[in-house]
Amino acid sequence: MIENNGVVLVLSGPSGAGKSSLINKISDDIGAYYFSISTTTRPMREGEEEGVHYHFVSKEEFIKDIEGDNFLEHAVVHGNYYGTSLKPVRKALAEGKLVIFDIDVQGNMAIKNRLGDITTSVFITPPTLSELEKRLLDRSTDSKEVIEGRIKMAKREIQRTAEYDFLVINDDIDLAASVLRQIAKTARLKIPHDVINDFVQRWEDVD
Ligand code: 5GP
Repeated sequence: MIENNGVVLVLSGPSGAGKSSLINKISDDIGAYYFSISTTTRPMREGEEEGVHYHFVSKEEFIKDIEGDNFLEHAVVHGNYYGTSLKPVRKALAEGKLVIFDIDVQGNMAIKNRLGDITTSVFITPPTLSELEKRLLDRSTDSKEVIEGRIKMAKREIQRTAEYDFLVINDDIDLAASVLRQIAKTARLKIPHDVINDFVQRWEDVD
């Protein structure tokens, strides 16, 4: 058996798709994982905490981090900067963990380009656009304009679902969690190209 190496699980999908609830539901069953906390310039929402939901920084600080090459990927989403810091991700991968990202479609592409051989990507969505609208309105943490922005973005993002390995339709939360649990467990079995190449070389040497 090849020793456990670190792997990546990218989760994308509209706000209101239930990504956080799904992660909470499966978190006890997927072994050692690190949930990547992004850095953002967007203002903190009610109920959010620094270092828990995001690292909240100014635009100047963010740009400094870009210039210092401190991000694995970064993007502008809804007019604000979002980025994944490289250092903690490197550490978690070296520790053999499942590194989970909640990032947008641009971030998924960037991760695929840099870490494609160890990455599994999942697009999570409510069953229909009207169900998404309903959930966002029921949640009522955002203004009407923000909700409209999220819906517009969801319509754009859903067009890029084919860029993902898996599509999880979150209609029944228990069923969606069970599918995501299986995907996360399978994601663990991905082997980096260099490890595969080493294995193939050694395999040929064995009598
Ligand atoms: P929110 O402001 O609702 O927390 O997130 C807005 C969007 O930004 C979501 O689609 C979320 O997945 C995405 N996002 C959060 N962090 C990052 C990040 O580090 N990189 C990228 N590319 N997208 C992110």
